[in-house]
Amino acid sequence: MEVRIRDTEAAVGETAAGIVADLVRARPECVLGLATGSTPIPMYRALIRMHADDGLDFSAVTTFNLDEYVGLGPGDPQSYWTFMHDEFFSHVNVPEANIHIPDGLALNLDVAGRLYDESIAAAGGIDVQVLGIGGDGHVGFNEPTSSFGSRTRLKTLVEETRIDNARFFDSLDDVPHHVLTMGIGTILDARKVLLLATGESKADAVAAAIEGPLTSMVPASALQLHPDAIFVVDEAAASKLTLADYFREVEANKPAG
Ligand code: PGA
Repeated sequence: MEVRIRDTEAAVGETAAGIVADLVRARPECVLGLATGSTPIPMYRALIRMHADDGLDFSAVTTFNLDEYVGLGPGDPQSYWTFMHDEFFSHVNVPEANIHIPDGLALNLDVAGRLYDESIAAAGGIDVQVLGIGGDGHVGFNEPTSSFGSRTRLKTLVEETRIDNARFFDSLDDVPHHVLTMGIGTILDARKVLLLATGESKADAVAAAIEGPLTSMVPASALQLHPDAIFVVDEAAASKLTLADYFREVEANKPAG
């Protein structure tokens, strides 16, 4: 587990964008796992700037998003399809055919989940999976007690998550109860995972995920099982880590190569 602590949300975004951009430059046909929510927006802005100013080229990149609300799709302003196009895809050159977002409008969600995992495998697997973290420790929409072996499937949101996400909707009543989300097993299959967290509201979940016991009550603690998991967090999100100084020392004294 690697933890990089940054002063600001913008710096978290720059660090994350740097990791993604390095991969895209090294392997133009790479597969990115992408996340929605407020946290990754500075990363998307930095990547859009690198595309515009430095010619960072996404023309051979394939993407898979983590999740989508059941009942919402491309035509809905609150869908994650719309979020991703507004915040990222409309500003870079990922071919539309290479963009994958779980189908919240699928008639058979079980089949849609299975096909989603199959299409990730057919693309060669995810090279780097970007994640946010919920106040309850969820990754994707894998709420507490999600199996560490879970695959892409239907989940029911806990009330805390619906309340957190109500800011994107007209009212709490409009927030769907169900989602189609990559499973924790799907996420752990990615070759690298990059979890971003900013703000004090994430401090408990970040500390529990990194320093707490492995438990399905904190789904992000499953990342302790991953051989290449990087947390990029701001000072506020790092504020409950007992080993924060150790993580700073590790990064400052990283041996070359
Ligand atoms: P947020 O959501 O980035 O909007 O805080 C994170 C999450 O719920 O995974």
